[in-house]
Amino acid sequence: MMLSGRTQLAAVIGQPVRHSLSPEIHNAGFSARGLDWAFLAFDVPPESAIAAVDAMRGLGIRGMSVTMPHKFAVVPALDELTPAAKALGAVNCITNRDGFLVGDNTDGGGFLDGLAHDAGFVAAGQRCVVFGAGGAARAVIHALGAAGAVDIAVVNRSADHATEAASLAGPVGRVVPASASLADELSTFDLVVNATAVGMAGGPAPEALPCPVEVLSADQVLVDLVYEPGETPWLSAARKRGIQSYNGLSMLVCQAARAFTSWTGESAPIEAMEQAARAGLAGR
Ligand code: NAP
Repeated sequence: MMLSGRTQLAAVIGQPVRHSLSPEIHNAGFSARGLDWAFLAFDVPPESAIAAVDAMRGLGIRGMSVTMPHKFAVVPALDELTPAAKALGAVNCITNRDGFLVGDNTDGGGFLDGLAHDAGFVAAGQRCVVFGAGGAARAVIHALGAAGAVDIAVVNRSADHATEAASLAGPVGRVVPASASLADELSTFDLVVNATAVGMAGGPAPEALPCPVEVLSADQVLVDLVYEPGETPWLSAARKRGIQSYNGLSMLVCQAARAFTSWTGESAPIEAMEQAARAGLAGR
């Protein structure tokens, strides 16, 4: 890639940001589309989040990905929020339209795109159970509700978080306590999602399972939002039972793809971006 006076800049802000795969994913996308764009990662402390967003106007930075801990803090610096960002109160993608900054949350849409890409799964009319009620779970629950899922059960360690997350689905959202009756009900869902940190490398319970797999069957679709490791103990156990199981890599790539299109106006080269994400993970 040859940088020039015409090169357009996009970036990610976070802290820590060194682990982010966004530079690999987006630079591969720019290159695959032949765009004179570059993507950098900026390690930004919490007190500088607003200044970093204001720099988009000052420097003409065309797009910004926002990762933790800044997803909530950047909101007041923006001119407009998309419906998803407004509902979630959290932004992971900012597009600079001639100095007018639009905040979006592409995680939920990226999740749906990834499900369609991996499994041909369409959420409308489906019954879903989501384990977790953190940022990722909230985006998934909101997106499933907006896409017309008819039942969204939320299971989470902290009941108050579950109640708040389930409300994002509208009338189809409900909280289900982790109990024996849940085990009976699990086989009735079309989609089973782990959106907790359970199973994540370096996470709180890398060997634990969000739920038992013995009650699940081959006609269900199971997604673990964790992508590192690529196969969690839960995914591995489900695959052994012949259940269609996918990790969170497609969500990661597809949320970036939505940002790519918002910034550049071009369709995202998904395969090149996915390949870059895989290579980035393999190189760790
Ligand atoms: P978060 O906001 O910190 O939420 C963490 C969630 O995990 C909460 O529901 C929390 O429950 C639950 N949890 C934490 N430790 C637990 C334990 N020991 N037992 C049971 N539940 C536990 O994190 P997040 O950003 O939503 O991320 C959640 C997962 O999604 C992570 O594994 C992350 O890697 C993955 N993720 C993937 C993508 C992707 O693009 N594929 C994007 C974002 C996140 P409480 O409410 O009780 O604390």
